[in-house]
Amino acid sequence: MVRLKQKLHQSNLNKKQEFQEMEIVTIPCLQDNFSYLLICTKTGEAAVVDPSEADPIRKEIKNQNVKLTTILNTHHHWDHVGGNKELKSDYPEIKIYGHSSDKGRIPEQTEFLEDGDHVMFGKQSGEFLYNPGHTSGAITYLFGNTAFTGDTLFAAGCGRLFEGTSDQMYNSLNNLIGKLPENTQLYFGHEYTENNLRFALSVETGNTKINKKLIDVKRLCSSGSFSTPTTIADEKQTNPFLRCNSDEIKRVVKLMDPENDLTKKEVFRALRELKDVF
Ligand SMILES: [Zn+2]
Repeated sequence: MVRLKQKLHQSNLNKKQEFQEMEIVTIPCLQDNFSYLLICTKTGEAAVVDPSEADPIRKEIKNQNVKLTTILNTHHHWDHVGGNKELKSDYPEIKIYGHSSDKGRIPEQTEFLEDGDHVMFGKQSGEFLYNPGHTSGAITYLFGNTAFTGDTLFAAGCGRLFEGTSDQMYNSLNNLIGKLPENTQLYFGHEYTENNLRFALSVETGNTKINKKLIDVKRLCSSGSFSTPTTIADEKQTNPFLRCNSDEIKRVVKLMDPENDLTKKEVFRALRELKDVF
């Protein structure tokens, strides 16, 4: 099963390799978390995004025969940083990136990102978007047309508002991540896609794209594969949190919340509240 998963992902990645010379291996962790091993194929150095736990990462590092030099944390939650300490003890020189405002919350953090900073490993150079909402220090890492969104954007959904406001999350999703090119590959933090699509369908029953994606994702997951990554183009068609202007969604929101003035931000707020109890 594991071999099959890797093969499926490998074939996804091979397309990108020519462009970036970076391979991405999806590593399922804990119950439904995704960590990602990023391999610089020029140097054999690797970075891991959100190591939830150390052992599955160690196994994949061995399997791929690469040297881990970097950890990229999207935010401080335990299920995204749980492997930091042990990986640091394996690789004492490791660089551990996170947003500057997460200082003291990300274990062993060594790099404190501020606007304009770059993220480096091997010959790879990436950037980041500061997208608060799920937490106050949440960021998305960008390498060319590949993004790692953590718990800010999920396929067909978004993270809960633990520390940020609904307006902040609206802005992070619609004005930052949502403005990336349509073909951007989005690698997210949890396998929540099936449930997210069910919610999306409940507020937009006439959207056939959602129905089709739900069928595809069910098939994919039951065959032992994953629904990550998605793309901006796909999310614009199926993610209700990027579709606050949809007439059908607005009608549903008005029914549930008659006082809602149906601005995009108010529709977003109502959708997030509906999803919290879905
Ligand atoms: Zn989180």
